[in-house]
Amino acid sequence: MDNRWELDTRLVHAGERIPPQAGYPTVHDIVVSNSFVPESPEAADAILGGQRQGYTYSRHNNPTVDALAEAVRQLEGGEFATAYGSGMAAIHAALWATKPRPGDAIVVSRDLYGASINLVQEFFAPLGLRVVQADLVDLDQARRVLETVRPKAVLFEILSNPLLRVIDGPAITELAHAAGAEVIVDNTFTTPLLVRPFEFGADMVVHSATKYLSGHGDAMGGVLLAQGRYAEVIHRQQKLLGAVLGPFEAWLIHRGLKTLGLRFPRQCDNAATLAVRLLESGRFRRVHYPLLPDHPERERIARLMAHGRGGAVVTLELPGGRDAVFEFLRRLQLVVPATTVGDVYTLALYPVMASHRSQTREERAAMGITEGTVRIAVGIEAVEDIFADLIAAAEAAAAHA
Ligand code: PLP
Repeated sequence: MDNRWELDTRLVHAGERIPPQAGYPTVHDIVVSNSFVPESPEAADAILGGQRQGYTYSRHNNPTVDALAEAVRQLEGGEFATAYGSGMAAIHAALWATKPRPGDAIVVSRDLYGASINLVQEFFAPLGLRVVQADLVDLDQARRVLETVRPKAVLFEILSNPLLRVIDGPAITELAHAAGAEVIVDNTFTTPLLVRPFEFGADMVVHSATKYLSGHGDAMGGVLLAQGRYAEVIHRQQKLLGAVLGPFEAWLIHRGLKTLGLRFPRQCDNAATLAVRLLESGRFRRVHYPLLPDHPERERIARLMAHGRGGAVVTLELPGGRDAVFEFLRRLQLVVPATTVGDVYTLALYPVMASHRSQTREERAAMGITEGTVRIAVGIEAVEDIFADLIAAAEAAAAHA
């Protein structure tokens, strides 16, 4: 800074753009700058022209956001990663990256997250794309649909929401590729600790980083990981739509990610214990969890999920309908009745009211979701306390059944 400048000028520039010193921080910085100063106009020209990597403007790239995307890429695999303001933006970008054209079809698993279904129906169908929902848990149905429809893209989650049916990712990927489709896996519920879809040939993987990756309920974000051939179209789309992640959220999610290996196995173990104990309690019409003996795809778990873990969500069927569920939610003392998963604390969600609100009663019934279905996203608390809270609330709700 030039000390001859007026005070008003110096106030604006003081302390900024100081050349880096020797020694770098052990934890990476939150770089909030919107723009960057390359070392020369020639360098700026090369970066903006795409001949050189570097930073010019945070809608194109930001170092804090890149650090998060790269961290997730190192866990999941893939050749290219970028982060978005939410999981939905990442899912939109992945579908867009398959370059669907009018007349093409997109197949989505019937049990997909409700908003993902709404996204394809409300944003892709009007472009002239055919949206086909199929029960991809059932391999025969999946084969029939994929061979007949020959879609451009297939989007699914391994563990369905909220009933935790298990899709055979490797088999669906093989069938989809044989039908000429590109495969996008939403790995939010399974995380790279249980499933790494690139290992079985997925073309893109998406995450709502809002959930387990971040883990503390205080930052929203999405991550898209892809093979290198998608990099250009994804980057272009992000630049033009601008659904970028803010650096502060990126930093928070990155910090959360460091403890995923401690949090998530504990959440899965808590869920497995709770599932058995809640079933034994006799208080629920049904308990859905992939490791329970009556689960229809139980045999897929050992083959598909690392360490045979079944995820951290348990879904309950309360006797009675809406009144009983509302009483159950009101009575919870420890479990938080809020609409998300993946936080360190246990959460309860009523799909009829929240995640599957846009589906008709008939559509929900076809998925197996009833007026008594409640999803429990299990946290890291002591499992005894979670169990006692759920049972006390279920006892109170029984009077309304
Ligand atoms: N995918 C799954 C499986 C989800 O559960 C969610 C949100 O609940 C999303 C995607 C969307 O993520 P976000 O809320 O970060 O946009």
